[in-house]
Amino acid sequence: MDIHPTLIAQIKKHLSEFAQHDPGALALWQSISHHYYSMERDKRLTEHAFEVSEKEYQELLNDLRRENDLKQQSISKIKAVTLALDANSSTEHREGEDLLDVIQFLERQIVKTKILEEELLQAKEIAESSSKAKSNFLSVMSHEIRTPLNAIIGFIHLMSTEPSLPTQEDYIKAINISSQNLLNLVNDILDFSEIEEGKIEFLYSKINIRTLIHEIKLANTFRANERENRITVMLDEELPTYVLGDEVRLSQILNNLISNAIKFTHRGHIRIEIHKFAEGENHQQIQFVVKDTGVGIAPESKTLIFERFTQANSEIDRQYGGSGLGLSIVKKLLELQGKDISVESEPDKGSTFTFYMDFGKCPEEEITLSPNEDRSSQHLAGVKILLVEDVYINSVMAKTMLKNWKAEVDLAENGQIAIEMCLQKNYDVILMDLQMPVMDGITATTKIREFDPHIPIIALTASSSYETQNDIKACGMDDFIAKPFNPYVLFETIKKRVMRVV
Ligand code: ADP
Repeated sequence: MDIHPTLIAQIKKHLSEFAQHDPGALALWQSISHHYYSMERDKRLTEHAFEVSEKEYQELLNDLRRENDLKQQSISKIKAVTLALDANSSTEHREGEDLLDVIQFLERQIVKTKILEEELLQAKEIAESSSKAKSNFLSVMSHEIRTPLNAIIGFIHLMSTEPSLPTQEDYIKAINISSQNLLNLVNDILDFSEIEEGKIEFLYSKINIRTLIHEIKLANTFRANERENRITVMLDEELPTYVLGDEVRLSQILNNLISNAIKFTHRGHIRIEIHKFAEGENHQQIQFVVKDTGVGIAPESKTLIFERFTQANSEIDRQYGGSGLGLSIVKKLLELQGKDISVESEPDKGSTFTFYMDFGKCPEEEITLSPNEDRSSQHLAGVKILLVEDVYINSVMAKTMLKNWKAEVDLAENGQIAIEMCLQKNYDVILMDLQMPVMDGITATTKIREFDPHIPIIALTASSSYETQNDIKACGMDDFIAKPFNPYVLFETIKKRVMRVV
């Protein structure tokens, strides 16, 4: 075995020549040299071990730094997001770096959110109950206004069927138009609240579209003359005479557009155009255009005018009044039928409103006379009618009208009396008011249906709300006529129900 060089150097330095070469000491040098070698190996091993752990430590440290950076970035992001959730929170949260900060902040946010949730729930309940109170109020008010209006409109109709002085004829027309305007306003207000609550049902029946347009034109002529406007109607030759649709809603849309056209035009021209636009197997699409040569609408107001309570021309609007509800009702009525309305307009040149509506085709056999067609030879002679009405003035008016049609009329002042009269005499039809003292019309009808399931019962009421219409159907009534009623509609409905006796 080689002697370790360090040991050789030490022997040479410290021992004599003789001792260096002493054969007896060689074994000793070899044994010591062996320890030197093993010490040297251990030292190298230890140094290597230190090198390795230093490297791993550095790597670990780098990993930890990266993770820490990531953690800090995540905390900052969570903070940014949570702070965005609460714009009002103070900046103290922004400066804290600790995750605990964020957790505490989130806890506070959760508590705040819960409080907010509870407040929102309470606000929703308050809003719902005030909206219910609003619709109840509107429906009560509408009933109260419609009841006297019914008498006014009815008596005007009766006056217009009797001879009068030429000047009185104009007055009668003026009262008629004013009361119709008042009725439209009441209808708009009630309709608006019902449409907003999604409580609207379309009732389809046969419409003589040509007659309807003629009536609408007539109803608007007086006001058009007042503004020195001319109204012309252009009906496409291919337009069918009869279609199936909701006459009340169609009239409401057209009346709104035409009355606006008249209001915003002076010494001009209002043109109503109706075209058959498309036809399917069971339906036809009709295009309606209402054009005027009036003040027009500024481009920036074109979409605003369909918003509720919005008026585009404050000066003219102040002069002629208006609720700002008309066009929003028109738009909603069309939207509920999957349709839209468009407007083209230029200030001082006029406006053109266009909309389309789908109608069912009217089967040939259903084509008979419609309201306002010539029925001078028609009457209700021999028809026994029980009129159930508690408001004296309304009963006088309806009785006179029915008697003019030669019907036999008895009057019951409430539901209880109506039941007793029905048990004593056979009537052909009952005209039933709904709100009455002692017994209301719904209860009376339910009781009458227990002993007479067939007698036609027509609701004649000033409450036209959605709930009322549901009650009417549910209690077994056959038809519904809203007060103030159109005399022709009343005549047609009675006639339809008592066809066998006329
Ligand atoms: P209003 O009861 O005020 O007429 P509408 O909803 O029917 O309410 O109409 C909203 C507004 O749209 C009107 O106030 C008016 O400024 C504008 N407008 C509607 N129709 C016309 C038209 N034919 N010509 C000019 N402006 C119109």
